[in-house]
Amino acid sequence: MNEQRLSERLERVAAHVPAGARLADIGSDHGYLLVALMTRGAIAAAVAGEVALTPFHAAQRTVRENGLCQRIAVRLANGLAAIEPEDRISAISLCGMGGETIRDILDRDKSRLTGEERLILQPNGGEQPLRQWLMDNGYRILHEEVLRENRFNYEIIVAERTGPVRYSTQELYFGPLQLQERSPAFLAKWQRLLRLKQRPLSHLDQARRTVAEQKMQGLSQQVRWISEMLAQGRETPKG
Ligand code: SAM
Repeated sequence: MNEQRLSERLERVAAHVPAGARLADIGSDHGYLLVALMTRGAIAAAVAGEVALTPFHAAQRTVRENGLCQRIAVRLANGLAAIEPEDRISAISLCGMGGETIRDILDRDKSRLTGEERLILQPNGGEQPLRQWLMDNGYRILHEEVLRENRFNYEIIVAERTGPVRYSTQELYFGPLQLQERSPAFLAKWQRLLRLKQRPLSHLDQARRTVAEQKMQGLSQQVRWISEMLAQGRETPKG
């Protein structure tokens, strides 16, 4: 992967950036997403935000080497602190971090969000608490997908602030749109996870000694939800 050739994961993220957006990519690391989109003429302005020095310098280098210093601002900042009102940001991407980290970044500086920005989120796990934050803050999920690359499952969640929205516990757990669509990648992900979550339950006596009872109950409930959800489907791809 580089700024000319994005990973499939970042290509899928790029597909949800509206044409002509003013995009802030928070946790930009190497800056490949912004440089690729700017080079393609897909975005009008961009801010790369990085909290760590090494990736910040990497993003600066990618932007400089592609002659884009006038069009992409690279800022060393924690989360949304990278964004200034005069940037007039219309879309924010937060990719390749845990869902809880993305949630905390959004929550810490909520006041910096105008509510007009499209959020394009690619959490690595922790999707449930992230969806909970979106619901609690009036963001409707417009698009969701699961993709598998290099033996990892990735989720992409696109949301916009629309006002009050209610999702059920299961919708927050699986994703409201994915639960309806039941794509082969989604079903395969949950078949795989079911097998993983069932493993400690099948050794309950041994597990009881090491895992708190409450945690086991939570796990049993998740196993029940996943089994019920998969049983509703007609498609049964191999995991
Ligand atoms: N977004 C890129 C991608 O998806 O390929 C890079 C993902 S990389 C695994 C996560 C990056 O997020 C790291 O470079 C890390 O320094 C940065 N990061 C983590 N917490 C951050 C925060 N609070 N503010 C800005 N950047 C952060």
